[in-house]
Amino acid sequence: MNEQQRNEQAKIKTDLSTDRKSAQDKPLTEKTTEDFAHYFQTTYEPPNIRQARKRGRDKIEVHYDFHIPEKMERIGEGKKFLIRTYGCQMNEHDTEVMAGIFTEMGYEPTTETAEADIILLNTCAIRENAENKVFGELGHLKPLKLENPDLIVGVCGCMSQQESVVNKILQKHQHVDLIFGTHNIHRIPNLIEEAMYSKAQVVEVWSKEGDIIENLPKARHGKIKAWVNIMYGCDKFCTYCIVPMTRGKERSRLPEDIIQEVRHLAAQGYQEVTLLGQNVNAYGKDFDDKEYRFGDLLDDVSKIDIPRIRFTTSHPRDFDDHLIDVLAKGGNLLDHIHLPVQSGSSHILRKMNRKYTRESYLELVRKIKAAIPNVTLTTDIIVGFPNETEEQFEETMTLMKEVGFESAYTFIYSPREGTPAAAQKDDIPEDVKKARLHRLNALVNEQSKQSMASYEGKIVKVLVEGESKKDDTVLAGYTEKNKVVNFKGPKSIIGSIVEVKITDAKTWSLNGELVEQTVEVNP
Ligand code: SAM
Ligand code: SF4
Repeated sequence: MNEQQRNEQAKIKTDLSTDRKSAQDKPLTEKTTEDFAHYFQTTYEPPNIRQARKRGRDKIEVHYDFHIPEKMERIGEGKKFLIRTYGCQMNEHDTEVMAGIFTEMGYEPTTETAEADIILLNTCAIRENAENKVFGELGHLKPLKLENPDLIVGVCGCMSQQESVVNKILQKHQHVDLIFGTHNIHRIPNLIEEAMYSKAQVVEVWSKEGDIIENLPKARHGKIKAWVNIMYGCDKFCTYCIVPMTRGKERSRLPEDIIQEVRHLAAQGYQEVTLLGQNVNAYGKDFDDKEYRFGDLLDDVSKIDIPRIRFTTSHPRDFDDHLIDVLAKGGNLLDHIHLPVQSGSSHILRKMNRKYTRESYLELVRKIKAAIPNVTLTTDIIVGFPNETEEQFEETMTLMKEVGFESAYTFIYSPREGTPAAAQKDDIPEDVKKARLHRLNALVNEQSKQSMASYEGKIVKVLVEGESKKDDTVLAGYTEKNKVVNFKGPKSIIGSIVEVKITDAKTWSLNGELVEQTVEVNP
């Protein structure tokens, strides 16, 4: 699946709702601006893989003491904010948190740049084209800032964790007022205050990570599906990937905090929860006082009365038998697993530092299919890793078929400064890489089309999310296996799970007819 296809899948309109998680009865560590001040600028360090690898097993502190400083509580009244999000679900969810903080400061959301008093770009650093989009957008915002000097333009997210990017912004985009990193989101009220009153560009990027701030407010996107972070960071150090540097070390939220959040969502009527992390199945590995892993968490969360539970992303390396056993129980744990393989060649996987082989991945797939016969598997694949040969690429093609992935996010390898792979000489020309991606995408499309065709005539359960963006007389939602379904029906069923008979299948979506709902009438 390429970017265009991904965009086409995001077809359903949703709205914003605020969800303030109340502060809990935990010991409060009063943090003041002075406490944080020693990290400001002076501790800014560029991402550095050697330093990152040395990250210690420092105790992870969980804070429950977030609050908006009194003087900033009503600063946003009569003003509007706009956050543009790039990249993965993690960023989307960070945007919900930032929107929650702005809402608590009295700001209202807007989608119009011309109306906004604050514009933030929540950025992604995973590939070069993601960064280019952000620099393009910064260029577009310049005239707006010149017209309205009070406008605050900010850059946050993964790009801000990179020294080269911060320097480029400071030098070439002086209309940017504020840059802050992924570990500084809870500092937004203080940073906005600085940006309002400071004449200089405000930069706050902590390379220190390790703490979890629990009671941040969230303005969730919609009232039907919700994301719940279960852990932050990544310790896997795949040689191509910038995430361990931009997101810090793996650190898990406490089970009781996650369970409380999911219960709260269930009570509010949410129908689906997606548990989020770079490697959700590494959950709990950082606990030194308990043996409680992702399988245990899923088992506990599945007991909560919420119809659908998903998770993303799982790493093949940490996918243990207990997790498979828990998933095999079914119920509200959906039988769709996104299991990024990256390559079908053991040689390339070794160079990627993925710590599994083609054979061990296939063995894992065999175990999963044996335990969950109806399972749907999807994946991520990188084409054109440095010096990938034709034969090694062919191994990816054959693996794609052998596993029978129903869909895949496919990418051309993009060198990321500071990662080991970026230092390798690469003899494969770009047009060869593009041609491989093209061939892979043709196979992905074919396999998706085939799996979609198998639904024709069948009845599926659809969580109705809203009107189709293309046609407001049509409703759209997702099946348990995450396929988009378009069908006609009353707007009153938005937010509920209904049965739809599939009438025809396209490559990336299904069309169907609502199955009449039988209403039980008491005699
Ligand atoms: N943690 C997840 C995992 O290991 O599967 C994936 C997280 S990453 C945000 C999403 C995907 O981006 C990866 O699975 C990989 O396919 C892709 N990706 C990461 N770094 C890349 C790079 N330098 N070039 C191209 N694709 C990349
Ligand atoms: Fe990146 Fe690998 Fe971590 Fe996934 S597991 S976020 S690909 S380093």
